[in-house]
Amino acid sequence: MGEIMSIKQTDVILIGAGVMSATLGALLKELAPDWKLTVFEKLSDVGEESSNEWNNAGTGHAALCELNYTVENPDGSVDITKALQINEQFQLSRQFWAYLVNQKLIHNPKDFIMPLPHMSYVSGEDNVRFLQNRFKALTKSPLFHGMEYSEDPEKLAEWMPLMLQNRPLNEPIAATKIDSGTDVNFGALTRMLFHHLKDQNVDIHNKHDVKDMKRTSDGLWEVKVKNLETGAVERHTAKFVFIGAGGGSLHLLQKSGIPEGKQIGGFPVSGLFMVCNNPDIVEQHHAKVYGKASVGAPPMSVPHLDTRYIDNRKSLLFGPFAGFTPKFLKEGSILDLPTSIKPHNIMTMLAAGAKEMSLTKYLIQQLLLSKEQRMEELRSFIPNAKAEDWDLVVAGQRVQVIKDTVKGGKGTLQFGTEVVSAEDGSIAALLGASPGASTAVHVMLEVISKCFPEHLEAWAPKIKEMIPSYGVSLVDNPELFHELLNSTAEALELVEKSEVTEADEARVLEKV
Ligand SMILES: Cc1cc2nc3c(=O)[nH]c(=O)nc-3n(C[C@H](O)[C@H](O)[C@H](O)COP(=O)(O)OP(=O)(O)OC[C@H]3O[C@@H](n4cnc5c(N)ncnc54)[C@H](O)[C@@H]3O)c2cc1C
Repeated sequence: MGEIMSIKQTDVILIGAGVMSATLGALLKELAPDWKLTVFEKLSDVGEESSNEWNNAGTGHAALCELNYTVENPDGSVDITKALQINEQFQLSRQFWAYLVNQKLIHNPKDFIMPLPHMSYVSGEDNVRFLQNRFKALTKSPLFHGMEYSEDPEKLAEWMPLMLQNRPLNEPIAATKIDSGTDVNFGALTRMLFHHLKDQNVDIHNKHDVKDMKRTSDGLWEVKVKNLETGAVERHTAKFVFIGAGGGSLHLLQKSGIPEGKQIGGFPVSGLFMVCNNPDIVEQHHAKVYGKASVGAPPMSVPHLDTRYIDNRKSLLFGPFAGFTPKFLKEGSILDLPTSIKPHNIMTMLAAGAKEMSLTKYLIQQLLLSKEQRMEELRSFIPNAKAEDWDLVVAGQRVQVIKDTVKGGKGTLQFGTEVVSAEDGSIAALLGASPGASTAVHVMLEVISKCFPEHLEAWAPKIKEMIPSYGVSLVDNPELFHELLNSTAEALELVEKSEVTEADEARVLEKV
């Protein structure tokens, strides 16, 4: 390593320039405009890892179509608790983005969010029954009003023409459709947020790799950063550090040495998509259609066929196919997994290894799939799909959290996101990947409430101004939900397709 330079002071250090740090930075700049924020990102640009548009599926996760957020009970009824939570969390993101647009802090919302119908599609008697029960349960809540259900192949052919062409109808099929879904370009959003932060004098250092950190005797955090261009090692101190390094977060959390970061491991799952290169096919589909995960498959590998808006062009992607590499970041190292195993988490990791043999087997099988086998999976969505119209693209890495839980016991694999913070709130890390970027605002508000409790009372009015449903249940306040759905749709220019008419609203309020 090169020469060691003098120590620089700042108030807040954000490690990693993905959508999470961008969101936390944008929130803090509104709440505490005088604080000095410094960002370190090891790649040459912001939003290049999981947040990049080609590395994730771009679904604005509001549980409108993802079947894994609703659980079938043994009596056939459907538990929608998680779907309600995720939908409410997505509304917080919509409100904050709308606030930023209305304040002209970010511009041209169509460059990062587009209206797109969200659909769920199933086949087979049991799955059709599940989808119908799910539809009945969801549409009792105002958050899912406007959702339609059909088993009629003609209706389904209107909704998803490409999927119904040449489909043998030898078993029942069904789908739900809701027009208020979105496609979100999280890469574009991340770049916009950092552009805004730069305008607000936030110091953004690309090609700066955070190597280590420690507490100083006066209670600050000292972060050791390598400037990848010059080779120089810099030292920066801050009162608060956010580890938003995506797949890199676990190693940095371990470096911090905080007890809350112990007995936690990570398991990387990679993603691959098939992308359609034939514009005639792309034009025949206009939706995100989520299917049901095959038995034994982890929830993040639910297959879906998505219209995407990337680089101002309509594209069509299918996937994700899962896979395994020991890297924790797409631009990571094959030593990431082995070096994350420490004396304090080895028992947790071993327990998970023994428990998750079926997952490991599934991932290895996925990894070994040939193009033709992948095409066969795609044909369960598009019966006519031809191999020459589709290419494979490598998406981002997700590092699933492994920890000991009361319910699951030692070494339980978690599929959600986890905020791990020090007891004194001086450092927080974000681990895990799902539902991910869509709920960035909710998760970063959690970081704020855990790490800045002493400021919360003073900040609450500003938080309410930016995110009107903060602290309020939208499930219990349908009028507020509809008011915010409409105002955010207008600000984010989603109105043409997801407009909720007064008649719709009156109908819903009547039901409630
Ligand atoms: C295949 C796939 C599909 C997904 N689909 C969706 C979806 O449809 N909808 C959705 O909402 N979410 C989805 N997600 C999840 C979503 O992409 C992530 O939750 C989100 O992008 C995470 O953002 P982040 O800022 O935490 O991490 P990242 O975007 O990965 O950013 C972390 C940054 O930290 C940097 N970094 C790492 N280590 C260091 C270090 N030591 N020093 C300096 N910098 C460092 C990295 O280079 C990177 O730029 C998907 C993810 C994957 C992989």
